[in-house]
Amino acid sequence: MAPMRAVALAAIPSSLRRLNERTVLERLRRLGTASRADLAKAASISQPTAGKIIEELLAFGLLEELDEDDPPDTTALTLPPRLGRPGRRLRLDTTQPRFLAIELGVDQTRLACLPLAARGVLPWQAVFPTGPSPDAWLACLRTHAAQIPRAALWAVLVSVPGVVDEATGRVLYSPNLHWTERLPLAELVSSVWSLPVRLVQEIRALALGHLAATPGCENFLLVDFGEGVGGAIIEGGQLLRHPLPLSAELGHTPVLGNPRLCGCGATGCVETLLSRSGLCRSLNEPPGADVTVLETLARRIRSEGLPDWLGNALDAMGAILAGALNVLGLRRVVVTGHLTDLPASVLERLAQAVRRGAMWARFGEVICEPAPRRRLEGLIAAGIDRLLFPASSEGPLPEATRRRMAETSTRTSPRATTAPQTQSIPNARRPRRAPAPTELKSYATPP
Ligand SMILES: [Zn+2]
Repeated sequence: MAPMRAVALAAIPSSLRRLNERTVLERLRRLGTASRADLAKAASISQPTAGKIIEELLAFGLLEELDEDDPPDTTALTLPPRLGRPGRRLRLDTTQPRFLAIELGVDQTRLACLPLAARGVLPWQAVFPTGPSPDAWLACLRTHAAQIPRAALWAVLVSVPGVVDEATGRVLYSPNLHWTERLPLAELVSSVWSLPVRLVQEIRALALGHLAATPGCENFLLVDFGEGVGGAIIEGGQLLRHPLPLSAELGHTPVLGNPRLCGCGATGCVETLLSRSGLCRSLNEPPGADVTVLETLARRIRSEGLPDWLGNALDAMGAILAGALNVLGLRRVVVTGHLTDLPASVLERLAQAVRRGAMWARFGEVICEPAPRRRLEGLIAAGIDRLLFPASSEGPLPEATRRRMAETSTRTSPRATTAPQTQSIPNARRPRRAPAPTELKSYATPP
């Protein structure tokens, strides 16, 4: 069979095989590292079937094998010890950049090239002012695109604020970045890199990042405090699906007696009290002072305690969060953003208000905890879940991404060598085989 035909087949695997691939990838992402046997067990797939899938994922550059002296991943879930000599451990690939992440912020845009497994502090390839117009923004993107090698990349993932229709790649509403509204934003970015582009609403990216980085935490409401106040819901280890292109817009819940006008056009939204600009206003600081407003506020809280206006705003926010927990049947709130940079009494006040209103607090524990923003990890998770291994219907974007994956596996992979699989190299990583045409064919064959 001709290689091009084989690549085309590899891009469209059967639904059952894709489901198994997705399960293996998802389990390995949660485990951090695992032997083939442990991974098969964790995925509830027979060892022969899991073995075939793992070899294919290795060949396509999604996984890598660890040397025996590599330290274990202490941040991930642990499996019970097994008897006998452990097999070589696997993990998601940490070396090749596969996704270009673009963080489109109100003030700055940042670019990073990400491998499938990226944790900790991730380097930015470029940072530039977002600017007031799409033309200036695209010009900056093109300038930086020339410096970012495209060869190994599979797709571009863009974290976007506002109300984002991720399915169509458009921003419906963005009170702080109006120029992004109703533009074919994903298409415009795709014109720069000629790669599949997926928009991810920024708070949903944070929730996916927290999910990826926190094994065992699979049900929570995340609320972020930044330029606005937004939320995202994870249930059963998945973003909650909903019929409208917006959800968990907690910041736009009105607070009785709050006369402030919100960027959304309504009056009294809690966001006008607890966003950065809301805090600036309450402190009688100009909006441009929001870089230092947190330091000013933190000093004041440490010396004088919580001011009444902030305590009242936190009580209102807590009641809104409690209502959301009661509706969703959740008991955990994860707080990210600037409230976590203030003295601990701020989150304690918020947590008290959440517990007062959360019905579950009468029966068990309701948790309200701070967490760092993990937007890039969330973008990687979105890329894996929605482009490489989508749970349901295939679309043009996943097909294009998988085609790109197949192309790069033969073009850039160091394992495109003639080394036989059984070759043993002591104290070195075993060269992995390039996918031969027959293997690519098997990729599309139901197990
Ligand atoms: Zn509003």
